Amino acid sequence: MSTPPVHLSTWPTPLDPAPRLAVALGLEPGDLWVRRDDLTSFAGGNKVRKLEHLVGEAAAAGATVLVTTGGVQSNHARMTAAAAAVRGLSSVLVLTGAADPARPGNLALEELFGARVVLVLPGEDAQARISAVTAELRDAGEVPAVLPLGGSTPTGACGYLACAGELAEQAPDLDTVVVAVGSGGTMAGLVAGLGAERVLGVDTGAVPDPAERVTELATALGATVGGLRLRRDQVGEGYGALTEAGATAMRTAARTEGLVLEPVYTGKAMAGLTAAVADGSVRPGRRTVFLHSGGLPGLIGHPYATELAARALDGA
Ligand SMILES: *Cc1c(COP(=O)(O)O)cnc(C)c1O
Repeated sequence: MSTPPVHLSTWPTPLDPAPRLAVALGLEPGDLWVRRDDLTSFAGGNKVRKLEHLVGEAAAAGATVLVTTGGVQSNHARMTAAAAAVRGLSSVLVLTGAADPARPGNLALEELFGARVVLVLPGEDAQARISAVTAELRDAGEVPAVLPLGGSTPTGACGYLACAGELAEQAPDLDTVVVAVGSGGTMAGLVAGLGAERVLGVDTGAVPDPAERVTELATALGATVGGLRLRRDQVGEGYGALTEAGATAMRTAARTEGLVLEPVYTGKAMAGLTAAVADGSVRPGRRTVFLHSGGLPGLIGHPYATELAARALDGA
């Protein structure tokens, strides 16, 4: 945490008004704003903000290779590969799941960024593979730095503490910022910077204990955490699985503001905001910010994209 971050993207990203989406959700036109962290380097997303700090730490330790892990469509893995490339490092991505070249998404970009991809079958021990990979790299004279799933360490979460400071300047009257929760570092940084009462997290089912993760990380950043606002009603059948509410939220955001969300994170986060307006926990007449955390390549790697394309061609 004490090592300085490296520069990987330009901050702050824009805060755009979303009046048509606001009205569609039942808010006043001036109530809803979108923080565009989908408009960052490396094809967009929140992980680059954590990587500025994580790569700073790895560089200080003399790392020559970044090693990380995630699912086959991990946005964090894609951005780690890109961060390694621009820092003159190499990268190894240990990815779990059934990969399919017909669902390119992040995998295609990882090839472009020059990463080495190591596939681990579901049920196989990813941690053991990471240990084997790092041992092999050390034998070859490399200095590997292992970055955790989603980049969610206190160091990574510092990126979103910095974002919280920017949001407080962009929107001093901010009542609630809504954010998808995966490994928890993004919400934790925002909670540490803005206070738990101003952050609404929407769980995506990536980890079994999101509240504990967020609390631990925010505490490590020096915050006293009480009363986390965390919705767990949008997970559906589990991490990565499309939900009806998520699909509706994706369509609504696209058809009102031209805003592209995806099924795994931001679609569920927008569905969570929709539910929060419906049950009164987010109210009209106050400033709500939706933090768009990126993930467009993940959409192109998701089976739902194939379904959408088929629907577009239906009757063509
Ligand atoms: C990883 C990710 C998130 C969740 O961020 P965490 O810090 O892991 O909770 C949200 N949106 C997108 C697009 C992501 O890739």
